[in-house]
Amino acid sequence: MSVITESLCSLQENEMGVDPCTSAQTRNNLLVPVRRRSNIVKEMEKMKNKREEKRAQISEIRSKRAQEFDSSCPNWEFARMIKEFRATLDCQPISITDPIEEHRICVCVRKRPLNKQELLKKECDVITVPSKCVLLVHEPKQKVDLTKYLETQAFRFDFSFDESSSNEMVYRFTARPLVETIFEGGKATCFAYGQTGSGKTHTMGGDFSGRAQNASKGIYAFASQDVFLLLNQPRYRSQDLEVFVTFFEIYNGKVFDLLNKKTKLRVLEDGKQQVQVVGLQERQVGCAEDVIRMIEMGSACRTSGQTFANASSSRSHACFQILLRQRGKLLGKFSLVDLAGNERGADTSSADRQTRMEGAEINKSLLALKECIRALGQNKSHTPFRESKLTQVLRDSFIGTNSRTCMIAMISPGMNSCEYTLNTLRYADRVKELSPHNGGGETQNQMETENEEAETSGEGSGHNVCLSKDEEEDISPDMFNFREAMTQISEREEKVVEQLRELRQRMTTELDYLLGITEQPDYDLETFVSRTKHFVEESSRNFLSVRETLDALGAAMQLEEQASKKMSRQRP
Ligand code: ADP
Ligand code: MG
Repeated sequence: MSVITESLCSLQENEMGVDPCTSAQTRNNLLVPVRRRSNIVKEMEKMKNKREEKRAQISEIRSKRAQEFDSSCPNWEFARMIKEFRATLDCQPISITDPIEEHRICVCVRKRPLNKQELLKKECDVITVPSKCVLLVHEPKQKVDLTKYLETQAFRFDFSFDESSSNEMVYRFTARPLVETIFEGGKATCFAYGQTGSGKTHTMGGDFSGRAQNASKGIYAFASQDVFLLLNQPRYRSQDLEVFVTFFEIYNGKVFDLLNKKTKLRVLEDGKQQVQVVGLQERQVGCAEDVIRMIEMGSACRTSGQTFANASSSRSHACFQILLRQRGKLLGKFSLVDLAGNERGADTSSADRQTRMEGAEINKSLLALKECIRALGQNKSHTPFRESKLTQVLRDSFIGTNSRTCMIAMISPGMNSCEYTLNTLRYADRVKELSPHNGGGETQNQMETENEEAETSGEGSGHNVCLSKDEEEDISPDMFNFREAMTQISEREEKVVEQLRELRQRMTTELDYLLGITEQPDYDLETFVSRTKHFVEESSRNFLSVRETLDALGAAMQLEEQASKKMSRQRP
């Protein structure tokens, strides 16, 4: 990533020199003889006129520019600077004829167009995509003296898509090259990452206009179409291959089946670290149309019963999987994931535990995801998949030599999203950074140039180095405690649920049996009494054990609350 800052025209009046009336020199001059004074007065008048002239000039430039640049736009000055910057570029966006490169890990960025509300608010578009790999963020800044300037940061990815790129185009360079992997017995994953409203669902699931979703125009559908296309090619046709799909949501570390009325599912790991989502519906599909029906069904299930303000889709990861089976045995798997909005990580300071838990869970899973992809890129034997349900469920896709992944960082173009956009880009940068094919870290520099007048008036044009500091890995002790408590809460909560489940099973079976005995005309009272006693004692022990887990859960909840309070106190 590199940062370039542009040269701008200052409209600052206070940059036109010090007022002579207040300067020390002028005060001294007032003491010299009258003959000279008249000269000084003349000089001062000249200066005053000059100043006024310049003021008028600037005001004229300003109003002229305001006319050119819709001055009702609250940030027209930034809009103008960005326009001027763009005018200096020879933009060559990605085109359909560009070669499709093969990457084991591919990281891309997609900028969506400004939406209706943003256009209505005349929001400034601060993103420029000058070429097929580069993306620029023009961050509006203001100095203490109110001088406005832009800080332009450049990011390089495998591909960058501007607002004119269609879903087809994005698919062509991102997920499409991975389809063949699953026919070769490999695992493929494709992630849509970004802030809520940046276009993740639009890209993956297809455009929702109004209530209806055009599921045939999203990456889920395009990938499925290509799977059937390949399946019908001579080299694969005779291989007894069958296609299945699954669609589930991970919300707050829990898995819900979107193809089965959002049934909650259990994730189990056996001794060999094989992870299984118990009861997940695998629907067999015979053609792309079948798949589209499944996508529609699952998407409707995902968003049902939601108000916009409370849209759980921004707080959950949706995972659509295409499974290729050969005579029943799993051959390959393509997982396409519409991730939870990354801004949700900031919810950890919320006053409400549920929101805090959600935020922490999202934070944790996105960090774990980044680490797992990096581990894949470095061919590490250890993958930190256990850190989150998301990475746990996708574990088998992060290992093995035939695993490939793609991440599409989605960004909103508006000035108001700038901070989140930069966070998204830094995260994506970090995922790619250690990928072997680009040889590690990229050059980072930041060039900052300012207003012409500011420069002439001697107000330096500093060069800042903008480090993409990995804040996430530099955590405070309170944050550490908070995360630790969160982990304990989820583990203990899961344990309580498991204990209650077992208890229900045992108790109903035994109670049915005991009550069944009493209904027989000549039952043995002694057997009944001893067996019931045994049951009561065992149940008491089991209840005590539940009680212990509940206490431990309560303690973890208290710890979490304290850590969270401490953190929010430290925040400005
Ligand atoms: P997210 O899933 O990241 O929260 P959405 O995919 O729901 O965001 O997109 C938010 C809004 O922006 C939707 O109305 C969507 O139709 C629109 N949108 C997103 N990306 C594009 C795009 N590339 N072109 C046109 N509209 C888009
Ligand atoms: Mg979405």
